[in-house]
Amino acid sequence: MRAFDVFTAKDSRHAVALLAEHAATSKVKVLAGGTDLLADLKFASASHAPDVVVDISRIEDLRSIAVTGDGLSIGALVTHTEIMRSPLIRDMFPAMVNAAHTIGAVQTRNLGTLGGNLVTAVPSVDSGPTLVALDALVTVLGPAGRRQMPLAEFFVGPRKTALKPDELLLEILIPTTSLGKPTCFLKFGLRKGQALALVNVAASFWVDRARNAFVAPRIALGAVAPKVVHASTAEAYLEGRAIAPEAMVEAGRLAVGDAKPISDFRASAEYRRDLVAVLTRRALEGAYELAKAKQSEK
Ligand SMILES: Cc1cc2nc3c(=O)[nH]c(=O)nc-3n(C[C@H](O)[C@H](O)[C@H](O)COP(=O)(O)OP(=O)(O)OC[C@H]3O[C@@H](n4cnc5c(N)ncnc54)[C@H](O)[C@@H]3O)c2cc1C
Repeated sequence: MRAFDVFTAKDSRHAVALLAEHAATSKVKVLAGGTDLLADLKFASASHAPDVVVDISRIEDLRSIAVTGDGLSIGALVTHTEIMRSPLIRDMFPAMVNAAHTIGAVQTRNLGTLGGNLVTAVPSVDSGPTLVALDALVTVLGPAGRRQMPLAEFFVGPRKTALKPDELLLEILIPTTSLGKPTCFLKFGLRKGQALALVNVAASFWVDRARNAFVAPRIALGAVAPKVVHASTAEAYLEGRAIAPEAMVEAGRLAVGDAKPISDFRASAEYRRDLVAVLTRRALEGAYELAKAKQSEK
């Protein structure tokens, strides 16, 4: 491992000041839970290894989970375990809890943060599909101030985000329009635990009770394109359509066309396409079950 300097940030402004100070002249990396970064530091080639690491793991202002006037705000340093234990998230978004539960093992979930997971931007990122299906926004802070963008645009490509080297991911916001929206996340790996997704899918929609129709359907696909993508053709097909098993099957079929899977040592592209069809249908069914359960609670 190549030597590097470590600076510990007191709060998010201090972290950005440290990033701005060093990013112009050095290769700088942010350290959150370290579950990805420490492996990278160990194995990175000299040309990729950072000269400076800014440790944000002790920052307190990035750890809250709260409903604000804008929606459900989740700080970048909230861990996967904290997501699983949050009464707010458990109540509003069991899909987020299910996604967090599939990430690594207990030790990884205790240290690994939501922000770190999203910044890794691997195509199979497990927090990604649910949040994209909920139209989540991310807020980043840099020397010029804050900016906000849809998570779907924050992901740029494999391991690439819209973050600049001197910017910090601050917050993930699920907007008020999505609060409590029935959502289902499903992941298929080569085994049930401790495996990256061959395909992961999240589906969300509101139900027009009068017509029993899909409203604002969203389907997000992971591990089948360079980044998490919307199954836009399937979403457009479902909008306003009567909820029926055949519609969910057709949406699954259309989602296959929205995916661009590759073959690798884990699975062939053909197998992944089959998974997209099946998991999309099942995720829609799961979201509908949740919608019906919520209705019967009223
Ligand atoms: C054994 C094991 C199993 C795993 N299984 C899964 C899995 O099943 N599914 C899955 O999705 N992931 C999995 N991971 C990946 C990893 O645990 C998660 O991505 C984790 O959430 C990363 O968060 P972290 O806080 O540890 O990030 P770190 O390792 O600290 O950082 C990761 C990257 O994000 C950057 N970064 C972190 N926070 C910020 C921020 N706030 N602003 C700007 N940049 C930031 C870092 O510079 C680094 O580039 C696994 C990892 C391990 C080691």
